[in-house]
Amino acid sequence: MNTATDYLASNSSSKSALAKIIVIGAGPVGVRFVDELKRKQIICDVTLFGNEPYDPYNRVQLSNVLSRSKDYADIVTQFPSSTDDFHFRYAQENIIEIHPSKKQITTQQKKVVDYDSLIIATGSTPHIPNIDGVNLKGVYTFRNLRDTEALLARTYRSRTTIVVGGGLLGLEAAKALSTHHTEVILIQQGERLMNRQLDEDASSVLAGHVKQEGIRVITSSGVRRVFGDQRVEGVITRDGTKILCDTVLFCTGIRPQNKLALQSGISVGRGITVDDFLQTSNENIYAIGECSEHQGQVYGIVTPGFEQAAVLADRFAGGKATYQGTQLISTLKVVGESVCSMGEVAEVTRRAKQHFLSYNNKKTGAYRKLVIHQSRLIGACAVGEWEESRRIQESFLSGHTIFPWQQWWFRITGKLWFGKADTQVANWPETAMVCQCNQISRGRVTTAIDEGYQSIEAIGKITSAGTVCGSCQPLLQNLLGSEAKPAQLTGAITILLLSIFAAVASVIFVLFPGIEPVESVQTPTLEFLWTDGWWKQVTGFSLIGIVALGLMMSLRKRFSWKFLGDFSYWRVLHVVLGLVALAILLAHTGAHLGENLNKLLMLNFLIISAVGAFAGLSLALASKISTSGIETLKKSWYWIHILVVWPLPALLIIHIFSVYYY
Ligand SMILES: Cc1cc2nc3c(=O)[nH]c(=O)nc-3n(C[C@H](O)[C@H](O)[C@H](O)COP(=O)(O)OP(=O)(O)OC[C@H]3O[C@@H](n4cnc5c(N)ncnc54)[C@H](O)[C@@H]3O)c2cc1C
Repeated sequence: MNTATDYLASNSSSKSALAKIIVIGAGPVGVRFVDELKRKQIICDVTLFGNEPYDPYNRVQLSNVLSRSKDYADIVTQFPSSTDDFHFRYAQENIIEIHPSKKQITTQQKKVVDYDSLIIATGSTPHIPNIDGVNLKGVYTFRNLRDTEALLARTYRSRTTIVVGGGLLGLEAAKALSTHHTEVILIQQGERLMNRQLDEDASSVLAGHVKQEGIRVITSSGVRRVFGDQRVEGVITRDGTKILCDTVLFCTGIRPQNKLALQSGISVGRGITVDDFLQTSNENIYAIGECSEHQGQVYGIVTPGFEQAAVLADRFAGGKATYQGTQLISTLKVVGESVCSMGEVAEVTRRAKQHFLSYNNKKTGAYRKLVIHQSRLIGACAVGEWEESRRIQESFLSGHTIFPWQQWWFRITGKLWFGKADTQVANWPETAMVCQCNQISRGRVTTAIDEGYQSIEAIGKITSAGTVCGSCQPLLQNLLGSEAKPAQLTGAITILLLSIFAAVASVIFVLFPGIEPVESVQTPTLEFLWTDGWWKQVTGFSLIGIVALGLMMSLRKRFSWKFLGDFSYWRVLHVVLGLVALAILLAHTGAHLGENLNKLLMLNFLIISAVGAFAGLSLALASKISTSGIETLKKSWYWIHILVVWPLPALLIIHIFSVYYY
């Protein structure tokens, strides 16, 4: 058990053995905090207060309840069980007052409860604009289960529903409502949908998908008034247009629920202000989740709250963790489309040495954009499947350099890396995030699987991966279903043997250059090959032909020209050609390295062969052993092989020119 609980005990006003912790708010973050306390084996007595008339549930899944693909039973969250050292109780009561000086709270039923540490996790409330008609019957918000149930009941009668707000919530609601034989009109005040996460082009691609779902989209036009006699009959938009409807749903933002803190004199900005330890202006009171404000930032998604819950529990356990803010990365399904957004993308600060790259594939409907500053990725967004999105996230978080050739490649193909993205999750680096909501890495999930947690539910229980929005569950399935099976490679043995031969030959060439001329005229000799002008031309032009063929093969890999046959055969041929080129080079030069530019050309050739041989070796090995190490090695050799080929055409042209000109 964690002795660091002394931290809490030392704060204890009661002389009972267990420190008393009260959590106000049984939303995802409050519940997560209680889980973290138990996980960290903190000796304490915890009471969780929630003012909703249900056991806590996963709010993120409410859109699935609204579309009837899930019901309450599917989204209800489990409580941690009590033990001798961990007393837990859940109380369905509204807290109406905090008395910081007495370290007490008062419930709606006028019960007064003591605490040693108080955690406020009261979340947010929907914001409704201050316009006429918002109190009419038929006006709704979408924040909790009660709202969802009311909306569901309404769908039976509604003919036309207007959803006000084109952010994530508005879109989710519109999509869910459109499954209920109701005409749905989405009105967005801003110029584009999801204007905080997407740029203009991404947004218009998304709008296309939304319209395909049968949802009418009106942008740059807020609602000025809701009208009707007791019940909603329609809305009047900013430009004066009257639109008839029977239901209006406001998804126009949220406000941190900070009323309790304000009343009790705790410092409040937009949210309840907290420091890096999540402590408020009162030393025994903390705030986490959407109700808190850290370094001027109030978050509207669940991941920051989970991170804060973990940091605070760590502090209670005597740890040194601090909260430093959360890098916002969203990978979501919006109206069934994959949408990804991270960093600065919608409102980008102007900086020197900053530029944008975008890729738009009209055929597949995929749109991707990168914001690059000093060769580092500072923002990205995409609509449509993006196989590289996890790798992009890693580059964004770790500030990897994005090289000029990657940027050039992105412009053409929409990808930053050559080759196919690794679809085997098991081959991802250990630190790559599988579950974005809970920040669970591939390594952590693999460890859980190795420890015997062999289903999505079991992994979710032990790591919490896949338990929030659920969009990573296919990745968990991929990890469960595959022990990173090595890809089958046609001609693996041939490639292996030829590569070994080519590697040895290239090294011998460099270490022992120059075949000595044979003295005796009796001995048959091949010296004429590199001394006779005609033969030199034959070998020289053969080499050029082989180089051209080799380059064509790389093109075959980049483009799916199916009529040219399976690429795997071309790969074997590529290795064979590499060896043939080495043999012809021997004939052309007699293994002499030459001088000046010729020497450069010769060395370039030999380096290409040696590196190509190592690439072939690692490729053949990767088909036998499957570790992320060999995969990385393979990719690195590929890259070096491609890079060292770049000077070859220029050196060849100079060589030919110098031979014929002089
Ligand atoms: C439909 C929908 C879909 C969403 N989808 C996503 C998504 O895909 N990804 C994502 O990251 N986020 C999503 N979100 C946002 C996410 O749900 C919130 O970020 C998250 O719920 C915040 O958690 P919280 O615990 O801080 O606050 P809340 O979930 O708001 O919980 C606070 C709780 O405290 C209770 N409370 C308040 N005052 C008191 C009081 N005085 N006494 C007792 N109890 C009190 C409230 O009733 C509430 O139950 C979605 C939200 C909705 C509504």
